[in-house]
Amino acid sequence: MTTFALVKLSAEEIKEIKEFLVYPKAIVIFTHRNPDGDAIGSSLGLRHYLEGLGHTVKVVLPSEYPPTFHFLKGVDDCLVFDLEANRCIEELHKADLIVCLDFNALDRVDKLGPEILKAKGKKLLIDHHLDPEPFADHVFSDTEASSTCEMIYQFLELLGDEKKVDLAIGEALFTGLITDTGSFKYSTRPETYKVAAALKSAGVDDYTLQDRIHNTATEKQIRLLGHCLANRLEVIPEYGAAIIALTKQDYVDFDISRGDTEGVVNYMLMMRGIEVAAFIREQPTIVKLSLRSKGDISVQEICRNHFNGGGHKNASGGAAYAKLEDIVGRFKSVLPKYLKKRVPVT
Ligand code: 5GP
Ligand code: MN
Repeated sequence: MTTFALVKLSAEEIKEIKEFLVYPKAIVIFTHRNPDGDAIGSSLGLRHYLEGLGHTVKVVLPSEYPPTFHFLKGVDDCLVFDLEANRCIEELHKADLIVCLDFNALDRVDKLGPEILKAKGKKLLIDHHLDPEPFADHVFSDTEASSTCEMIYQFLELLGDEKKVDLAIGEALFTGLITDTGSFKYSTRPETYKVAAALKSAGVDDYTLQDRIHNTATEKQIRLLGHCLANRLEVIPEYGAAIIALTKQDYVDFDISRGDTEGVVNYMLMMRGIEVAAFIREQPTIVKLSLRSKGDISVQEICRNHFNGGGHKNASGGAAYAKLEDIVGRFKSVLPKYLKKRVPVT
């Protein structure tokens, strides 16, 4: 069963963290592979805050960030593990504090996982995914939060420092609110809007931010989306499901690189009657899946049980070493376990 859970930082832990932050420290912030707006926004927002307090802060991304987020202050001097592995490991082992944001399982940071476990620095986890692994000294985990960015604002409130939110912190955190809620369409709760209001009051121009985040597709990406919808979409009406599967050859033909397929999965849920969507990509060594659902259907359970993955109830991912057609077949074969057969909606 999917469990919703809140793990709060205790008053003693907050006191300990505040005392720890009184003198300048070396701090490293990690987030997950293929960082999205929430991963990057929460990392940069926290970094700007900590730098404002006088700490030395490095943000480590396991893999490169999508060009969409180039406008965020400080994103260009994040360290990327894929490009500078030794430097990242060096910074990790020098750190007094290791902050893990927007992931809760060490396999989300690949080879950095075992290194983080070994590192001596104090570990703080702030995250909103289901089923956290117990590897951190201090944990703030809230599966009901819209985003890690929302939680970073709350973390600053817990430290009594929400007034320190400036434009750079505000833009970084608002980015995660936008990207993890599909522009406030899902995963919201009253606190989400309270945080959005506070960030807007701090000077964030949300209209411009939305434009920068969403209206930056290249011609190639729009044509690739057309290909996915016209030639690679399969609908399974009796289970209210849809699949888009891309082959290695599609990656060559459309010169697809990281980030080009962002958001494709969501188009399937725009069809009436479709409540589960699978976007499956054949990559050089693995097959990667992105699943999305509506309402009570938990794609987190599907990913966890069948695709070595996880995430959120309505948005999860996974990966497997197998052939593309086998993974597509596995997805179709497990549908009856999670969905009732229905009269197709036309
Ligand atoms: P996406 O489909 O956009 O890559 O990811 C959707 C959600 O699932 C994100 O919250 C992401 O953190 C999570 N997720 C994606 N891939 C994996 C995976 O391989 N393992 C786990 N545990 N979570 C994943
Ligand atoms: Mn997130």
